[in-house]
Amino acid sequence: MEKSLERFLRYVKIDTQSNSESQTVPSDPKELDLSREILRELKEWGVEAHIDEFGVLYGKLPGVEGLDPIGLNAHVDTAEETSGKNVKPQIIKNYDGGVIRLNEEYSMSPKEFKGLAKHIGEDLVVTSGDTLLGADDKAGDAIIMAVLEHYITHPEEKHHTICFAFTPDEEIGRGPDHFDVKKFGAAYAYTVDGSEPNEIAFENFNAAHADIAIKGVVVHPGEAKNQMVNAASIAAKFDTLLPEKARPQYTEKREGFVHLIEMSGDCGFAKMHYIIRDHDRNKLEALKNSFLEAQKILQKEFPAAEIEVKLVDDYRNMKEVLDKDPRALTHITKVFESLNIPLISNPIRGGTDGAGFSFKGCPTPNLGTGSYNHHGRFEYLSVQEFNQMIEIVKRCVSAEIE
Ligand SMILES: [Zn+2]
Repeated sequence: MEKSLERFLRYVKIDTQSNSESQTVPSDPKELDLSREILRELKEWGVEAHIDEFGVLYGKLPGVEGLDPIGLNAHVDTAEETSGKNVKPQIIKNYDGGVIRLNEEYSMSPKEFKGLAKHIGEDLVVTSGDTLLGADDKAGDAIIMAVLEHYITHPEEKHHTICFAFTPDEEIGRGPDHFDVKKFGAAYAYTVDGSEPNEIAFENFNAAHADIAIKGVVVHPGEAKNQMVNAASIAAKFDTLLPEKARPQYTEKREGFVHLIEMSGDCGFAKMHYIIRDHDRNKLEALKNSFLEAQKILQKEFPAAEIEVKLVDDYRNMKEVLDKDPRALTHITKVFESLNIPLISNPIRGGTDGAGFSFKGCPTPNLGTGSYNHHGRFEYLSVQEFNQMIEIVKRCVSAEIE
């Protein structure tokens, strides 16, 4: 078996699920089991690297002076939705286009998973049906390690200085919190955390959230006339006053939404939690404004109620940064041109650590890994695309592309 695939399979067997309930950094110490494994290999190769007090692994492979130092990043944690414990990856050699049986209960049919058709003839790594695979983002980890190993074992091949970082807690949105772009040292960087090998992602959502708290007036229901104000009923009405079609189930591509994540309440008190998303900053502001409008209308209708709306911005679309500093995009365009691969781009309907790094001063779009259906039991990796990504990232830091 190829060394890079062996490394990937070794990484996915390490349980590194992060935990949004935890307030520690990293959110679960087990995430560092993988970081330490990566550090062990790097030390074996004699590469300068360390894990800092926030659990971020930083290192550098010095290259040709005068060329921009290029950053590479992948995260070590896996998503909360599905367990990442006891991952038992299965390899399907030379996929024939049929139904893939994961276990007694679960299988993947090309009817349901349309993407499978393009992998006929490839080797796929799939789960055993009861965990996620963790190719998000251990494929990214293994791709970066394969590139580092390549340049260490081929000192005659000149390259940019490679600044690499392996980060915890991406899946719970805390990746950039303690990320030090100065220590990282890259002029610009790439996260290796997407799917399609020929896709570069540099547009993500602008994100905010809203917390609504409503205090009602509690009176015995038998004597409630003209006195009772039911907070739970106001909450239900509040939701109907927000843009009805701007909801996740009605939107795609660059359309934004408000999403009611959670609501609870009774006559005396009700609360709601929403997330708000749009690629366009002005449209995000308009969506945020709809919460204040709803508040105004209901406050007028129910003067005895106390309606509080708290709006908080979370992350921003990195396109803002990349429009001003397009070096990362110009560079990757040259890389794909030199490989004769057509480059595509789609807006991410979510966030990415790279957005946080970009706003901290290191423009960081996202590259693919050759893995799909992230966060669940149907996650899989195409070995051929994974290998192709190793070649693309190698080329990306090669001194041949200035
Ligand atoms: Zn990821």
